[in-house]
Amino acid sequence: MPRIAVIEGDGIGHEVIAEGVRLLQALDSAHGLDLSFEHLDYGAQRYLDTGVTITPEEMQGLRDYDAIFLGALGDPRVKSNVHAKDILLGMRFQLDLYINLRPCKLLDARYCPLKDKGPDDLSFTVFRENTEGLYTGIGGQFKRGTADEVAIEAEMNTRKGVERIIRAAFAYADTHGLKRLCMSDKSNAMRHGHDLWQRVFREVAAEYSEIEASHLYVDVLTMEMVRAPERFDVLVTNNLFGDIVTDLGAQLQGGIGLAASGNLNPEARIGMFEPVHGSAPDIAGQGKANPLAAALSAGMLLNWLGHPELEKRIEQAVSHCLANELITPELGGSLSTSQVGDALIAAAS
Ligand code: ATP
Repeated sequence: MPRIAVIEGDGIGHEVIAEGVRLLQALDSAHGLDLSFEHLDYGAQRYLDTGVTITPEEMQGLRDYDAIFLGALGDPRVKSNVHAKDILLGMRFQLDLYINLRPCKLLDARYCPLKDKGPDDLSFTVFRENTEGLYTGIGGQFKRGTADEVAIEAEMNTRKGVERIIRAAFAYADTHGLKRLCMSDKSNAMRHGHDLWQRVFREVAAEYSEIEASHLYVDVLTMEMVRAPERFDVLVTNNLFGDIVTDLGAQLQGGIGLAASGNLNPEARIGMFEPVHGSAPDIAGQGKANPLAAALSAGMLLNWLGHPELEKRIEQAVSHCLANELITPELGGSLSTSQVGDALIAAAS
């Protein structure tokens, strides 16, 4: 019986994850998946009530689930955002979720901001390194607050870290029959860390003669993603660049309400799935949140559990909602979060 930890988190996380879970339950009953859901209350309210964000035991306990389904963390009442840092970054770093998997797939041309681009032109997957790079907090400040202040943020690239994300991207391309893989860095300006990326990339690429391995500096990549997104099947890049290009990708596929993600460590068999958007306090509790990104994240979760055909089914249900304008106000529709949830269940069943 696959056990799923459900962490709704804060704000619209509650609303969109509730719809994602309803969808999963509907598919569970239809296909006998035997899923079990355990709701964990990690989030701002618990922190405000108890002063606890997540204990070390709770963090380690997350390893025991077959998958984690997360909403969003962020609440205006917790100015420091300490709970989000402890829970979300804690998961990424302590559970070593080194792959940030971000599919960027346009399901309906009407929602793409690019002229004359359709679903056939925009379907690529980004592998963002998720545990090192510029996001480790290594660095320091010297003479803070003075005119002589120095602030150093160090970018960490380890042989192990670079190799495993590049290998994961090639393995994905290989198993999905995708022929083009592009690595992006800034090795013309960052001559140490990104030289490591270059060397490892060439080494791993040599093992995959069937895959066309290319390289673009990240500034060129952003231009090409807008000019000719049809050039790309799989992209692999570091933590900072991945953060930026995946948000560009999210807009190309129709906005933040449609962007799903996975945070994975396949060797440790830990998979955490979350919509990319935040807790959106401005619309929380009003039934306006778009649950489609949460639904697509639920699809990725089912794929992780060994049901790729059900991920496809969810994708088709989302396409159906988009095509028939069964959508929430931010996409131009008039349905509530739960009405879109109903439409998804009807289309997926
Ligand atoms: P944080 O990431 O710190 O939790 P946030 O939720 O404000 O912050 P974003 O996710 O970037 O950040 O959202 C920005 C705005 O986009 C939100 O305030 C909201 O108005 C809108 N938005 C985000 N996600 C959705 C969604 N699923 N449905 C409808 N609107 C959304």
